Amino acid sequence: MKAKGLDHVAIAVKDLDAAIALYRDALGLELAEIEEVPDQQVRTAIFGHGMGRIELICPTTTDSGVAKFLEKRGEGLHHVCVEVENIEEAIAALKAKGAPMIDQTPKIGAGGAKIAFVHPKGMRGVLTELREGKKT
Ligand code: ZN
Repeated sequence: MKAKGLDHVAIAVKDLDAAIALYRDALGLELAEIEEVPDQQVRTAIFGHGMGRIELICPTTTDSGVAKFLEKRGEGLHHVCVEVENIEEAIAALKAKGAPMIDQTPKIGAGGAKIAFVHPKGMRGVLTELREGKKT
């Protein structure tokens, strides 16, 4: 099992437009795209291209996972995403180390990539997304 590195970090925000103004206009990061992901009930703003992107995520409903996260913990780091060569192998390797998977099998995420989430309990307190496939 081999990981390629950090794909992106995701930050949960309450007001996407205000957060974009901060990251794009104040910090000067390039806004690559804004995408609505109905499946996860969020709108996302992605900064940069390739590895090491920053993704702002904002809930579109009050009962989505991200909405509950914001309610409980406020704005902040939501998850990190690691790009792996083979997601099935990565899931098996993490399970073998006792890391609880939220997704036992890969789902299809943004851009058609295969993704799976590992529970924060298994990753030293950080929700971790595994990703195999194309980048935006
Ligand atoms: Zn992500």
